[in-house]
Amino acid sequence: MNSVPEPANPKKINLLDFDRKGLAAFFVDLGEKPFRATQLLKWIYQENVQDFDLMSNLSKSLRRYLTEHCCIETPEIAVEQLASDGVRKWALQTQCGNRIETVFIPEEGRGTLCVSSQVGCALACTFCSTAQQGFNRNLATSEIIGQLYVAQNQLGDSAKITNVVMMGMGEPLLNFDNVVAAMNLMMDDFAYGLSKRRVTISTSGVVPAMYRLTDVCDVSLAVSLHAVTDELRDVLVPINKKYPLHELMEACRENAKLAPRRTVTFEYVMLEGINDSLDDAHGLVELLATVPAKINLIPFNPFPSSVYRCSSNNRIHQFKTLLNEAGIVTTIRKTRGEDIDAACGQLVGQVKDKSRRHLKLMETHHVA
Ligand code: SAH
Repeated sequence: MNSVPEPANPKKINLLDFDRKGLAAFFVDLGEKPFRATQLLKWIYQENVQDFDLMSNLSKSLRRYLTEHCCIETPEIAVEQLASDGVRKWALQTQCGNRIETVFIPEEGRGTLCVSSQVGCALACTFCSTAQQGFNRNLATSEIIGQLYVAQNQLGDSAKITNVVMMGMGEPLLNFDNVVAAMNLMMDDFAYGLSKRRVTISTSGVVPAMYRLTDVCDVSLAVSLHAVTDELRDVLVPINKKYPLHELMEACRENAKLAPRRTVTFEYVMLEGINDSLDDAHGLVELLATVPAKINLIPFNPFPSSVYRCSSNNRIHQFKTLLNEAGIVTTIRKTRGEDIDAACGQLVGQVKDKSRRHLKLMETHHVA
């Protein structure tokens, strides 16, 4: 499942593909000390230096070796768009002619980058336009962390990325190893140094991978719930047929045990006449009774072939009030970047050879 695309220069090793542990192992293999990893991370992510010759605390022979055999390569910007509300979207060109999308959302006191994990998506959630694109491949670690690298460089001094949400294209837990390595770099003090509360992974509910994540990487967890019965969730989020609600809730409870006062955020897209009745809201209160939970209601963002409509403002607020009164912290996600198709579920990129969804779904059976 840890597929890495062919690099532009197949002879060279892209050092953005390693987290600190991976880099240390790489240097030890070269007969170097493991602390070279922290030196290199600082040059790349904090000093923004790409030329190995300028890395003055490395020996001359190591610099020569790195120049000959390694590279620091990010995806290239194909299109940059700025929305009227300050949201920026980049379409990034990856190897094999695909494009992925990354979105920067500026807010008072913080800047959030929404990062993609796959080219397209293998899941078939019926309300999501990325799903309509089909699936091509997993992104390499360098293409995931490369989104931060490129975005921060483009923003320059005008804004700082303070938060990352793995909520772009793809299901991050179906690209487990590469996503975990990239999140390690986001949180590494020698790279981006973001706190674990500022790095959030969102999943549609790949239950076995949720347990693995709880074991290896402590980041904030968001779960795309969207329905309170298996009958409806089977339709909206079809992976529910494989991992039904009671299994999903158990995995969430386990994750919440990681730290005192920890909560799981549940995302709930508001679809008129589908999942937005007050009975649904009561069902939500019941379902989440045993999980330390926050709820994020997402107004549905339509796309050309979508069959759903967004719930009315009134209904979304009624829903929120009912949940708040039941003691669950509930927020309504502000729709941002709509005029450049950068809102939730609107990221499409450019996915070539979309026929691989079936293959990827087969792999989910082996996630252990
Ligand atoms: N595959 C992961 C990551 C995607 S995150 C996941 O499912 O969690 C993107 C969030 O936006 C998810 O909660 C997703 O369900 C939601 N979403 C998808 N399409 C949407 C749409 N058209 N309108 C609003 N939210 C949408």
